[in-house]
Amino acid sequence: MGFQDLKRLLQLVLIALIIGAGLLPAQDLDRTIEFQFGGRAIVVPRFGPRFEVLPVLELMGAEAGYSPAAGTFIVVWGERSIQFAIDHKMVLIDGTLQEARDAPAASPGGVAVSLTFLDRSLLSPMDHHLEPIPGGYRIVPGARFADPVTVRPAAADFGATTTLLLSLSRPAEVLVEETPAGAVVVRFEDASPQLDSTVPFRSRRVHSLTSRNQTIELALASGVGLLSWHVVEDPPRVIVELGIASPTPTPAPVQVVRRTGPRPIVIDPGHGGDDVGARSADGLMEKDLVLGIAHRLKRVLEARGHPVRLTREDDVHRALTDRTALANRLEARVFISLHANASTVASVSGAETYYMSLDQSSTDAEAAATADLENRAGAASGERSPLDLILWDLAQAEVLNESADLALALQGRLNALLGLRDRGVKQAPFVVLTGATMPAALVEVGFLSNPSQASLLAQPTRQQELAEAIADGVEDFVRR
Ligand SMILES: [Zn+2]
Repeated sequence: MGFQDLKRLLQLVLIALIIGAGLLPAQDLDRTIEFQFGGRAIVVPRFGPRFEVLPVLELMGAEAGYSPAAGTFIVVWGERSIQFAIDHKMVLIDGTLQEARDAPAASPGGVAVSLTFLDRSLLSPMDHHLEPIPGGYRIVPGARFADPVTVRPAAADFGATTTLLLSLSRPAEVLVEETPAGAVVVRFEDASPQLDSTVPFRSRRVHSLTSRNQTIELALASGVGLLSWHVVEDPPRVIVELGIASPTPTPAPVQVVRRTGPRPIVIDPGHGGDDVGARSADGLMEKDLVLGIAHRLKRVLEARGHPVRLTREDDVHRALTDRTALANRLEARVFISLHANASTVASVSGAETYYMSLDQSSTDAEAAATADLENRAGAASGERSPLDLILWDLAQAEVLNESADLALALQGRLNALLGLRDRGVKQAPFVVLTGATMPAALVEVGFLSNPSQASLLAQPTRQQELAEAIADGVEDFVRR
């Protein structure tokens, strides 16, 4: 047997072994793939979508091999240590677990990986990437080119947690994770984050943010960890909840209400105490008018079998955000804030229903003016900054369509009662509606600035009619 025959026989034996191991389709066996690194080249066997990877890593000068103790393959490159295992879509990079697009497979040389796995899960942590050449790839230094995405950070510190909002200039695939060292890292797939530092950033729990390659690292106050995270589309945002990750359950807040039975409807009579709201020429105050209507509305709804809670039972001040906080604690079915309007134009009349606008814009100038007026009560008592509001809005974002339906149902009944032209449903950034996690709407029952309407609103019969119309609207919505 000559040398060529021997070589041929060995090849056949190898092929038989590989087919016998059920590894790969036979048609791909004769294929190879070339890798170049720093002027050197290597040709490795290719098995379908995968190829032998250990020789490629050795070509780069990395130490790469199987660790029976760990049950993983370990690659050491400078300071960096990367571990991966056959049939696992995971890579452990310096102790941080990352999800891979696909899993490595067993091969004659030890382990075979896909080009994606090599590029994203092995080379990228080593600050290298693949560039195609005829018959193969060149391994070149530098992270893979990733389109920049501008990230505007904002944070709101609450009692025990901090909500970090990262507003993105475009949608991007994101993964938020905690390293064993306790650092929280936001990883971008195919995007290099550029932090927008034009907006001041401050938080008790997040000391700083640093962007590096395709990650943003958060420097957190001691003991603070990652609680949860999620992505909101349109506009694209990443919301990261941070707090003390305590192994023992945190004591329940004092005011936690254990809900039993059906979810209540929460009615919020606007203003109260020193904050009187709008006022008619003959002295009717918004805070008193809406409290009266709220008590009537409560009685009407309860008579129809709906549990109801008011955010204030009498003439007291309540912070705007405390009002939705109560509704959230009670897991309210619906949140309705009652107000009476004022307009610089005395002849303007009618009822108006609003729901939350998330982009701080309003349906029209009139809606903006109304929101501005209603929000002043909160601003005066040192309430949330606009940045905090962006965060707080997110609660409403998830139920915005339902809020629009609720507002439409309410306005429909109010139009029928008042026989007035349809003033329509409007969107405006009302502070009192932000933060509500359930469908929420704000009803302006009429204009106190219109003298004839103010005297009508003062009548108990009209207040009862308004209460019944709003109750009808709530039932229309709940029964949809
Ligand atoms: Zn008001």
